[in-house]
Amino acid sequence: MLEIDPYQRIQLYYLDKLLDALDKDVLSRRYPYLEFIESMNRFTVILSHDWDLPRRGFRRRILAYGVRLGHRLGVLHGDIDPILIHDTSNPLPLVNILLEHGIRSTIFVRENIFSSNKVGFIGELVSKGFSLGLHIEPRYIVDRDVESIIVFKERVERVFNVVVVAGRNHTLYFNPEITWKLYKEAGLCLSSNLGFNNAAGFPLGIPYAFRTPNGIVEVPVILMDCCLWRDMGLGIGDSLKLIDKLLEKLRRARGIASVNIHFDYGNYHYAVKILDYMVRKVLELDGEIIDFNTFAREIA
Ligand SMILES: [Zn+2]
Repeated sequence: MLEIDPYQRIQLYYLDKLLDALDKDVLSRRYPYLEFIESMNRFTVILSHDWDLPRRGFRRRILAYGVRLGHRLGVLHGDIDPILIHDTSNPLPLVNILLEHGIRSTIFVRENIFSSNKVGFIGELVSKGFSLGLHIEPRYIVDRDVESIIVFKERVERVFNVVVVAGRNHTLYFNPEITWKLYKEAGLCLSSNLGFNNAAGFPLGIPYAFRTPNGIVEVPVILMDCCLWRDMGLGIGDSLKLIDKLLEKLRRARGIASVNIHFDYGNYHYAVKILDYMVRKVLELDGEIIDFNTFAREIA
């Protein structure tokens, strides 16, 4: 039996608050996250990339509205790459960092993938061992439109010849009462939605994956690249310091959390630097980086 340290007690407190709204019995029956800690030898980052494929003109909008003062100052200071590259044409530097370390991640595709010219590229990544997840439109959650989620899932599985186990809602739109229920009905077993869409950190203080009352396993998001430069206005140096802190917390807690580095959103050079640093740091701290399908197999 594992000892619960004071840090973990705090996590339990928040978990209690969260689950209380859903199922009052859960905590009295068990600590929902211990099963995952015990099955994992090392702290674990489950790595993914939301592939948003935003419409044309998006880059201009980012330049006009999306850049915070801190980011502009960072550019002046030379701390941030001055070019906000929205480059969907060449995600290979990001992929190469992963291949170099033998890491495979999960790409969360939106439905617009099918009307893009990226189907072949995704197929190549799948043949190299990458897995796919569903990047689900928030309106499907709002409308409780499980049929559309099922159609989307089946299409991804058919076109790419994969098994899809995980989902994440676009913009991290999250409703604890609906999201996990729809995921269950659509045949998914993993969710990675509990997180901030505008900041890095542990949502509700939870550095663990946990089983929700209906059986879906939630892997909270601790870090998205765009939050750092876009919403938190951090330059490269400060971003790396924050990543150090988050990973240290995860290591101490022997936690399991997900990281989302976009392949095609915002500052591309920045994403490459963040991914490269994060990967090296996790390995240096003796953590492991896996994809969602591997995690699903490990906890099955
Ligand atoms: Zn998205």
